[in-house]
Amino acid sequence: MTARYGMFIDRERCIGCHACAVACKTENHPPAGKSFMNVKTVGGAHRDTPAGTYPNVQMRWEPTLCMHCEDAPCLAVCPPHALYRRPDGIVVLNEDECLGAGCKRCTYVCPYGVIEFNAAEGVMQKCNFCTQRVDAGRSTACADACVYEAIFFGDLNDPASEVSRAIARAGGQTEVLKADHGTRPAVFYSVSGHEDSDGR
Ligand code: SF4
Repeated sequence: MTARYGMFIDRERCIGCHACAVACKTENHPPAGKSFMNVKTVGGAHRDTPAGTYPNVQMRWEPTLCMHCEDAPCLAVCPPHALYRRPDGIVVLNEDECLGAGCKRCTYVCPYGVIEFNAAEGVMQKCNFCTQRVDAGRSTACADACVYEAIFFGDLNDPASEVSRAIARAGGQTEVLKADHGTRPAVFYSVSGHEDSDGR
């Protein structure tokens, strides 16, 4: 069966250390001040701040990246087809074909706000699931950098892959972000409150 690459992010294990975001920057060189992997805070109004009043406070983190959607609206609006899907499901943005500042249509239709404009190079950029690493048989930089084992990457069609095993351990307690947009993301998250059945 053809591979279909995807990711599982365990919200219960993420401690908001931003190692994934740093590894992504080192590997993929996003424009200054931008990131292809954002560790968002779900809690207070500002990054790394909780909701509520002490001692009743709540905070967790949500690493967010391109969702490599199966029904990706960005593909349909890209005039030169700089955005395309590989047979393995990875949605790639080919900067050599991108129209850049004169277009930006992809940014208007992506529900996740993950496409960045590189003003210095005049092109749009986003997470390409580290195709340079995947094609060499490696995992993504963010998954490799996560020492707390909160990010799993691999072939969703292979039940023995790390990502499939992590999703299986979640016992069906997974969800995608903004499911109401119907884009069928390949990035899955643990439902908050889930506990890994391996006790990890
Ligand atoms: Fe396209 Fe946005 Fe989906 Fe990524 S998250 S595939 S950029 S619509």
